[in-house]
Amino acid sequence: MPEAAGGSPVVDTLARLVAWDTVSHRPLTALAGYLADRAEAAGMRVERFETAPGKVNIVASAGPPSPDGLLLSGHMDVVPVEGQAWTSDPFVLTRRDDRLVARGACDMKGFIAAAVEACGAVDLRHLRRELVLVWTHDEEIGCHGSRALVDRLRAEQPERQLPRATIIGEPTDFRICRLHPGHTTFTIECLGRPAHSSRPSLGFNAIRLAAEVIALVDSFAVALEDRRAHSDLLLTPYTVLNVGRIEGGSAVNIVPERCTLTVGMRPVPGALAGPLLAELEDRLAPLRARARAEGGDLQLKLLQSSEPLDTPAGCAHADLLRPHADAPALVGVPFATDGGNLAQLGLEPLVFGPGSIDVAHRPDEHLREADLHRATAALTRIIEARCCA
Ligand SMILES: [Zn+2]
Repeated sequence: MPEAAGGSPVVDTLARLVAWDTVSHRPLTALAGYLADRAEAAGMRVERFETAPGKVNIVASAGPPSPDGLLLSGHMDVVPVEGQAWTSDPFVLTRRDDRLVARGACDMKGFIAAAVEACGAVDLRHLRRELVLVWTHDEEIGCHGSRALVDRLRAEQPERQLPRATIIGEPTDFRICRLHPGHTTFTIECLGRPAHSSRPSLGFNAIRLAAEVIALVDSFAVALEDRRAHSDLLLTPYTVLNVGRIEGGSAVNIVPERCTLTVGMRPVPGALAGPLLAELEDRLAPLRARARAEGGDLQLKLLQSSEPLDTPAGCAHADLLRPHADAPALVGVPFATDGGNLAQLGLEPLVFGPGSIDVAHRPDEHLREADLHRATAALTRIIEARCCA
């Protein structure tokens, strides 16, 4: 029988965290306020970086500022539950056998709960090197929170050097990941000229134009498959393009005026989104010229861009994580994280956390209770080794 989970401090904390419905489009100030209060109660200095109404990043720090300290980071938002077949309330932490089930259990409130409890287990008054917590918003819809935080810190505190040794606690099943692609999203607006569908020669069909654009995007994607990088670390070792959404036309008897494609691109580390988009623009140019001659147009608009991650294999804190990892090798993951943006501050993020990405974003997302305790113990030891010794 499923039961509401509790019974140990870290499980109780996780139960609190998942009870706030922080699906990305919603405000998350209540959860952020709770995490700020917990950090203050542990003796940390707390900064709140509000980026929009209801949207805030939390930075908490303790100990003397030092680039040789430790930074732990996670995102506070979660993905939606609509349309998913959950067998219990996704916002009530529910114990089922050895699993803790809730939205965000593994991605990634479990890590946040473990980090909060680890901070409480260490005497933060006597740190020799700085410990920093960074809790971000809107990671799931394009790493917007970390992007805004990086911009704010660069503008407002240009002298500040945060600890380089950074752990992003996304679910990696306790494997250490140093590399992942970025994620850039954009729309291609295909504009036509409307007409009565009985007289197609008077119009210019935006959906047919979009079909040609899709074929062109696909041919670019095939060309990118030849530019391989990091084949040893990535299952898909090249930049991928995905036409993920299409929206167009208004009625079956009207030659459509507009069709919008939303495209995702995941540049491999070493590839840059800007030049890739410029190359796509070049490939679109002949089609655009033809569209304009017919009274239509093609417009590419950037929605967001989060950076790839490529932390050096020899970074100092890999050795700190190895005793707590399932394997000593540094690996790559296919998904983007806040680590790509945070690396822009000179940090060296490694992605390392409890739980499996295979159950994240799915109904009955869960974390094994033993893994939550293991993460808490590991983070406690890692803080002690890096900041206290
Ligand atoms: Zn995540």
